Amino acid sequence: MSRPFSTAVIGGGAAGIMAAISAKRIGKDCIILEKMPQLGKKILASGNGRCNLLNEKIDPSKYNPSSRPLVKSIFDRFNKKHIEDFFKSLGLETYPEADGRIFPVTNQSASVLKILELELRRLAIPVELNFCASNISDLKDGFTVTSKAGKNISCRNLVLAGGGKSYPALGSDGSVCEMAQAFGHKVIKPVPAAVPIVMRDQVCHLLQGQKIYAKTVAVIDGKVSCEASGDLLFTKYGLSGTSILDISEEISIAINRNKKKDVVVSVDLVPFMDENKLTGELTKRLASGWHHADLLTGILPNKFASAFKEVLATRNAKDVALAIKKRRFGVVETKGWNEAEFTAGGIDTSQVKETTLGSNIKKGLYFAGEVLDVTGHRGGYNLAWAWASGHVAGLAG
Ligand SMILES: Cc1cc2nc3c(=O)[nH]c(=O)nc-3n(C[C@H](O)[C@H](O)[C@H](O)COP(=O)(O)OP(=O)(O)OC[C@H]3O[C@@H](n4cnc5c(N)ncnc54)[C@H](O)[C@@H]3O)c2cc1C
Repeated sequence: MSRPFSTAVIGGGAAGIMAAISAKRIGKDCIILEKMPQLGKKILASGNGRCNLLNEKIDPSKYNPSSRPLVKSIFDRFNKKHIEDFFKSLGLETYPEADGRIFPVTNQSASVLKILELELRRLAIPVELNFCASNISDLKDGFTVTSKAGKNISCRNLVLAGGGKSYPALGSDGSVCEMAQAFGHKVIKPVPAAVPIVMRDQVCHLLQGQKIYAKTVAVIDGKVSCEASGDLLFTKYGLSGTSILDISEEISIAINRNKKKDVVVSVDLVPFMDENKLTGELTKRLASGWHHADLLTGILPNKFASAFKEVLATRNAKDVALAIKKRRFGVVETKGWNEAEFTAGGIDTSQVKETTLGSNIKKGLYFAGEVLDVTGHRGGYNLAWAWASGHVAGLAG
C-alpha cells in the first residue's frame, strides 16, 4: 500500500468515489483514503434514504453566484446526461419526479452506494478505511499523506474530496479544508446551509408540530434577499420545513458570516389568496356575524385561532389579512452543523482551475465536491456537483 500512487483521493464520499473511478478508468493507479469505517455515509443519508442524486434542470444559476463560472465549466465537461449515462452503465436505473428531482428506481440510497462500490471492486481500486488524513507533506514531485494513526501514503497527485462541515457524524468535519489552507488556499468561512432557523416568537411555540404550505421571504437589513414556497413547519425553537431550508443559506451567511443583526423572515401564511381576496373574505365573515376568534376557520388550521388570538380580537379585516400575509419572525440564529444538509463556504473557487479543478497554487493538488465553496439548491444539485466535479478532478488529477 505504501508505493507511490499516481493519485490519492482523500475522502470516500460521492465526489471522492467518482474521482477514483474516473482516474482508474483511464489507467491511473489510485487509492481512496477514508476516515470512516465505511464509504459514502452521506450518500446513504441523502434524500431521506432515497438519494436525490440529480436534477433534470442542472444549471449554474442553481449554485451560489461566486461559484457559477467554475460550475458552468465543469458541467460543460460532464453534464446531466453524462451523469445519467454513467449510472445507467453501472446498472442503476433512475426516474425523475414531476418537480425534476431524480431518484434511483429502488428509492434506496443504499443501492446507489452499492453500485459504486461494485465498480470500485471491479476496477480493483484500493480503499483504506479508518484512514483519517491529518497531515500532507509537500514533496518535490508529489505528496505524502499521513493518517492520525501514523500511516503514510505517497502519491504524485492528490484529490481533496473531504466534504464540508455538515453532519460531522457522517465523516466530514472541515479538516480537509484546513489542509488546503496550509498550501495557501483561501477558505470562505463555512456556515451551515439548508438548516432550520431559531426564532424567539411565541407563535412558533404555540403552533409547534403544525405544518402548512406557505411562502417565505428572507429580509436582511430591510431588503428582500430571497424567497421560497413550500412546507412551513413550526417547532418549539422556531421554523423549519422546505420553505425555510430553501432560504436558510442567505440567512446563515448574513448571521453567521457577515454578523448581521437585522434579519427577518416574512411569511405569507395564506399564499393561495391575495391580500384583497383575503380581506374581502374576512369582511364578509364579519358582516355575517362570525366571531373574531373563528375568522380564520377553514383558511388556516384551527390551532391558528389561539396562536393569533390578539390579532383576531382587536383588528379589522384588513389588518388581520395583513398580519396573516406578512407575518414577520425575527431571526435569532440558525441551527448548527448537526442539522445542516450542506455547507455554504469552503475553498475559494477563484484559486482553482476551471478546466481541471487543479490548484492555482500547488501543482498536483485537485479538489472535488463540497470541500469547495460551491453550494447548490436543494433538489439533487449538490450530489450533481459532487459527481461532475469528482469526474473532472479524477481525470485530471
Ligand atoms: C442529511 C443529508 C441529506 C442530503 N440529501 C441530499 C440529496 O438528496 N441530494 C443532494 O444533491 N444532496 C444531498 N445532500 C448533500 C450531499 O449529500 C453532499 O453535498 C454530498 O454528499 C457531498 O459529497 P462530497 O463527496 O463532497 O462530501 P462527503 O459526502 O461529505 O464525503 C467526504 C468524505 O470525506 C471523508 N473525510 C473527511 N475528512 C477526512 C479526513 N481528514 N481523512 C479521510 N477522510 C476524510 C468523510 O468521512 C466523507 O466520507 C444531503 C446532505 C445531508 C447531510
